[in-house]
Amino acid sequence: MGERGRMSRRGLLQASLLGGVLAGCSTAPGGSSFDVGPPLVPIRARTDRIFDIAVCLRPFRPAGPRVDTERLGDTLVVHNYGHGGSGWSLSWGSSARAVRMAMQASPSEVAVIGCGALGLTSAILAQRAGARVTIYAREQLPQTTSARATGEWTPDSRVALAHAAGPDFAAVWEEMARTAFKTHRDYLGLPGTPVEWIDQYAVSYESPPSVSSAPPASSAPPAMDFAAYRNRIDDLTPKWRRLPADTTPFKGASVSRGEIMVFNIADYGHTLLNDFFIAGGQFRRAEFHAPWQIAALGKKVVINCTGYGARALWKDETLTPVRGQIARLIPQSDVRYGLVYRQVLAVPRRDGIVVQSFEGGEMKGYGDANETPERAEAEQAVMTLAELFSPVRWRG
Ligand SMILES: Cc1cc2nc3c(=O)[nH]c(=O)nc-3n(C[C@H](O)[C@H](O)[C@H](O)COP(=O)(O)OP(=O)(O)OC[C@H]3O[C@@H](n4cnc5c(N)ncnc54)[C@H](O)[C@@H]3O)c2cc1C
Repeated sequence: MGERGRMSRRGLLQASLLGGVLAGCSTAPGGSSFDVGPPLVPIRARTDRIFDIAVCLRPFRPAGPRVDTERLGDTLVVHNYGHGGSGWSLSWGSSARAVRMAMQASPSEVAVIGCGALGLTSAILAQRAGARVTIYAREQLPQTTSARATGEWTPDSRVALAHAAGPDFAAVWEEMARTAFKTHRDYLGLPGTPVEWIDQYAVSYESPPSVSSAPPASSAPPAMDFAAYRNRIDDLTPKWRRLPADTTPFKGASVSRGEIMVFNIADYGHTLLNDFFIAGGQFRRAEFHAPWQIAALGKKVVINCTGYGARALWKDETLTPVRGQIARLIPQSDVRYGLVYRQVLAVPRRDGIVVQSFEGGEMKGYGDANETPERAEAEQAVMTLAELFSPVRWRG
């Protein structure tokens, strides 16, 4: 989610940290049937319904993702890694840039290292450009970082630091985001629902800040200057709207609603793997410890999509881990809306209702490479949601 009036997860996150919902979003016309949402079914927020807790590391680079080329002897390596909290969102756009660079060498065959969101989209685009493609990777998608993401359209979430990104990066980012958005649209309406739009509600019991007032001080640690580019693509997604009081089941709350593109990761991944294999793609399980091993594959062109793995493999010490954890509650087919409440995000993915705490803001997990799940954090987030669905807060 994003900037004022058009909320990214970051925007919601910040709004929640500020203790209010959205300065700058428009107010829905009271009573207009045009804007009345469907009846909402409560999330069965019980800790014994948690069936999975997953942790992964966002591959963050202060300068932004690395999409450039390097020569390793006779091999042209195109790097495509370091997308922070935006890897799924930007995947098609970033991979389109990488594949353009790769195809300039007119290869009939391309090797892709890595089988996460970036590896698979690079591989599929290289196939569409006419190359035969083999993916080499330690893990296939269901075992990678990409499989443990939240799954929302968050194209500028922890993607760069404003002071470290080069002067041209914002324009490059915009091109990647626009290309990616268009391509994600091609996966709407397919069997299995790899991509879909949902309503997302931001619910707060704090008084909203006035539009003109400066944000109140937050208790979160000082944030780094994470770059925010979402206003460059404001035209792509609907505006967030503040809803009139008492038009939602959230008793006495300040409520806003946005519409969000969601990636149902299990099915999106499955669809991408199928598309790759149907187009004749080959997969080889392999682990590389040094670039010379990649050169030894003897390929003319290699696209390097190793995510956080590039830190060790390419000695890219600018790659910083940003730990993230999601829990999944048993899916409810009648819950088709997302929610942000007291620094907890809930996303009704088809493969489980994702519940994620973002207490601590964008600095949460920064520099932390610990991949051990913390059940207490997951339970706390679910209990926070449970509070919202109690008779005190919920008009049942
Ligand atoms: C909690 C959390 C929530 C997130 N939510 C979102 C979201 O809502 N939206 C969004 O857009 N993004 C989100 N992200 C970010 C997103 O998950 C990442 O940006 C993305 O998964 C990175 O994909 P990747 O393909 O670069 O890396 P990976 O998925 O890590 O894939 C890397 C591949 O390279 C292989 N590899 C690595 N090293 C080697 C080696 N030495 N030898 C052989 N193979 C190797 C791996 O096996 C794997 O196949 C989230 C991240 C986290 C942690």
